[in-house]
Amino acid sequence: MTSTQDAKAPAGEVVLEAIGLTKHFPVRRQLRHLLKKQHDAVHAVDDVSLTLRRGQVVALVGESGSGKSTVARLLAQLYPRTGGDIQLHGEPTAVKGGAAFRRYAARVQMIFQDPFASLNPVHTIRYHLTRALKIHGNAGSNAQELEEALTDLLNRVSLTPPARYLDKFPHELSGGQRQRVAIARALGARPEALLADEPVSMLDVSIRLGVLNLLRDLKERLNLAILYITHDIASARYFADETLVMYAGRMVEGGDSETVTQTPAHPYTRLLIDSAPDPDRLTADIDPAEEDRGNGEPPSLIHPPAGCRFHPRCPMAMPRCTTDLPVRLEIGDRPGHWAACWLYDEATVQAQQPGTAAR
Ligand code: SF4
Repeated sequence: MTSTQDAKAPAGEVVLEAIGLTKHFPVRRQLRHLLKKQHDAVHAVDDVSLTLRRGQVVALVGESGSGKSTVARLLAQLYPRTGGDIQLHGEPTAVKGGAAFRRYAARVQMIFQDPFASLNPVHTIRYHLTRALKIHGNAGSNAQELEEALTDLLNRVSLTPPARYLDKFPHELSGGQRQRVAIARALGARPEALLADEPVSMLDVSIRLGVLNLLRDLKERLNLAILYITHDIASARYFADETLVMYAGRMVEGGDSETVTQTPAHPYTRLLIDSAPDPDRLTADIDPAEEDRGNGEPPSLIHPPAGCRFHPRCPMAMPRCTTDLPVRLEIGDRPGHWAACWLYDEATVQAQQPGTAAR
């Protein structure tokens, strides 16, 4: 079902790029503000850049409310962006509504977190998949070709034999089977990029690995670019080639997944990794200062902290962190590993040494 052109495209070719993506949601906090027409905004995403390449998975990791799902929805153009640019094969994307937008929607498909909510309960699997194939012009020219396309889609997501599933309703399937149908529906558009928004977080632990393995298999066989949104940094290491970490609407660290998960540079990434349950740490002697590290809540995104947004929780915070927004700084000798943190700016760290004049 993949076009010849897709199969021949070189792995690593850039498919989709976000440049300085920004999204502010207007809010009206109080009735009196509403009457005065005073508006604040939730700074959900600020200046996020990422690149999706053929045959590669990029994981976007962060806690709830960090803005990672908003990034996926902006890339899918479900939300209009406040600023920044989205480019498909280097071309700026069209405004929602026209023929160019429909072509974009076919090439960039989204998989949602909740497979039950994303499928209409009153329609069969056949209806969902047929609709996707017809909308994107992939249903063939007669009933037999349509049936072959439906069978092919279900085979691709390992729902076999297809005849057993085609005429079932979503409630007759397990959570894992429903998510496979949602993936099959996305494949019906013959996309080049998949935006998977926490695709396994609502599934039983026992079937998560199967769905991740399916996505990895599709990535390799169909040469797909995949954005994998997750709060589980351990699964990013397993599944993704590159990992990007978000905190309070901003990107704070990035690099190849092995490096970011094994030698994290940003204090927030270290906190995320240390937050994963580890039986060894339950019995180890824990330094109380270490245990308190990163305590606190994520900040308000209506009035985010000045400087580094992590500074109210950061045990390493320096005076500069409260005023100056950290820039991306290269880390060590691993190409492509960076962190937005003043700890990696030599001049800043030296200025904090005892006996050194304050900035
Ligand atoms: Fe902590 Fe400062 Fe780095 Fe932010 S910039 S993570 S506050 S050390």
